Amino acid sequence: NLQVVLASRPTGRPSPDNFELVRTPVPTPGEGQLLLKIRYLSLDPYMRGRMSAAKSYAAPVEIGQPMEGGTVAEVIESRHPDYAAGDIVLSHSGWQSYALSDGAGLRKLDPEQAPVTTALGVLGMPGFTAYAGLLTIGQPKPGETVVVAAASGPVGATVGQIARLKGARAIGIAGGPEKCALVRDEFGFDAALDHRSPTLAEDLRAACPNGIDIYFENVGGKVWDAVFPLLNTFARIPVCGLVAQYNSTGPFEGPDRLPVLMRDVLTKSLTIRGFIQREFQAQRPAFYREMAEWIAEGRVKYKEDIVDGLEHAPEAFIGLLEGRNFGKLVVRVA
Ligand code: NDP
Repeated sequence: NLQVVLASRPTGRPSPDNFELVRTPVPTPGEGQLLLKIRYLSLDPYMRGRMSAAKSYAAPVEIGQPMEGGTVAEVIESRHPDYAAGDIVLSHSGWQSYALSDGAGLRKLDPEQAPVTTALGVLGMPGFTAYAGLLTIGQPKPGETVVVAAASGPVGATVGQIARLKGARAIGIAGGPEKCALVRDEFGFDAALDHRSPTLAEDLRAACPNGIDIYFENVGGKVWDAVFPLLNTFARIPVCGLVAQYNSTGPFEGPDRLPVLMRDVLTKSLTIRGFIQREFQAQRPAFYREMAEWIAEGRVKYKEDIVDGLEHAPEAFIGLLEGRNFGKLVVRVA
């Protein structure tokens, strides 16, 4: 059983030394258990938080333990009444090639309905994050302007496409011309802007002549600085992620933004609301139903970036935090 364990906690940007590849015997399932062979591992930005001992909404991975993560697995051996060998399941088995499960938290997948990797992306946690965060907190209305960054990734791409399904304009921000072309031409956003451009703030102003009604916050940093002056009265800001600062160590660059932020929260009646997707669990059945339909009808599209081999997961994960992925990042384990 190949595992990628957390060897040490990073300071700033993670490095390959923070991970270690170890081999352990393939475990044997006891009564009521299943042996899973991991087919695909999802790599997600939240994993940076699990590498750190800082207090957060979830406990950190312990040193020497396999990194945590969502997985698509095949049941190899079942001593559980609800599962049989050959079943494909969504599990949370982490960065390893085999795992035991007692069935808790598993979801059977139907490979006929959609490619099983989508259970880690558009039809899984990231897609659900976009759906619940945008519809519950953002509440897009026809004619409104929605802005989202990391727009070629699974959360951002889905936010923009749902916004358009609800009749809003979607403006995506992404790193580089190739990602911007995908966002505009494939995902159908009204415009896509490159956050590396020195004229980002002006480009965004030009793309949002009526201001911004919803800013779905995925990144923070200089994207936030460009968005903030354009927010309309009663704008809603679902705060989903701040990937631009996950690797930062010192104080943030530039002036203290808090007084100006608080002034506009007051004078523009802004709603800024953070969320962790699992608080919206009750909406999962509606999400699976609607999203599966939208995908089948071609109204929501997705892009996956599949890396071969569990041993390449550390490098791929480090790249994810810097935008080296092109679409939903998934590792093909076996
Ligand atoms: P992505 O696949 O989009 O990967 C992250 C992307 O962030 C990179 O590809 C990169 O894209 C972008 N990025 C990195 N650094 C910067 C920067 N300095 N400025 C601008 N963009 C940057 O990830 P996901 O779609 O999986 O996740 C998107 C966000 O949603 C993350 O913040 C994540 O933590 C959050 N999230 C929150 C959840 C919740 O429950 N609250 C659940 C799931 C995800 P580019 O090259 O375009 O810059």
